[in-house]
Amino acid sequence: MPEGARVVLATRNAGKVRELRQLLAGAVPGLDVDAAVVDAGAVGAPDVVEDGVTFEQNALKKARAVAAHTGLIAVADDSGLAVDVLGGAPGIFSARWSGAHGEDRANLELLLAQLADVPDAHRGAEFVCAAALAVPSTPDARGVHSIHFTHVEHGRLRGTLLRAPVGEGGFGYDPILRPTGRDETTAQLSSAEKNAISHRGHAFRALLPYLVDALAARS
Ligand code: IMP
Repeated sequence: MPEGARVVLATRNAGKVRELRQLLAGAVPGLDVDAAVVDAGAVGAPDVVEDGVTFEQNALKKARAVAAHTGLIAVADDSGLAVDVLGGAPGIFSARWSGAHGEDRANLELLLAQLADVPDAHRGAEFVCAAALAVPSTPDARGVHSIHFTHVEHGRLRGTLLRAPVGEGGFGYDPILRPTGRDETTAQLSSAEKNAISHRGHAFRALLPYLVDALAARS
């Protein structure tokens, strides 16, 4: 496989890498997805400060930075939980709602306390994901890659927030979101069931044709 025909997923999350590999394997039969999809750590890509004010801005910033740094096609996502009665919060602050980044249980407990008086009929919320693709140009005389193509897709998963966590799977706010039309929370779904309906699954699947085209152009 030509060096350029690889995609870097701007994450250190092994679950997201697995998900993108599965999607690409279905879209491009015969592709060696383990070689074609690598994570940011494997190519020494820098951590990017997520200082955008929308999911789209953060996803694009990460994809552009990783593509420029590595010269490889890059995909990044940014996601969170948007609660109706909170006007879309925690939103881009989902991972650090209680203060520290990634304190999943504390984030969830704080949100439940804030919504304690909200009646069931008004506990609508959705997981939202922006997935971004950035394709770098060949390097200029100084070895600098500019970005010659970007594309962003969104996905969402609507549901209702419970009053207490249910289920052991997943991460983040999974134990308190029950998707519309289901009896379980997303923490009770298998990863395949969740991927089929999730915000990230929808966004990645919508981005896939653009990624397949970008990879084909470099093969
Ligand atoms: P990130 O896009 O992976 O940085 O996720 C940001 C934050 O949003 C996570 O830390 C979670 O709190 C929340 N989040 C995003 N996607 C999900 C999901 O699928 N289930 C539960 N929480 C999620």
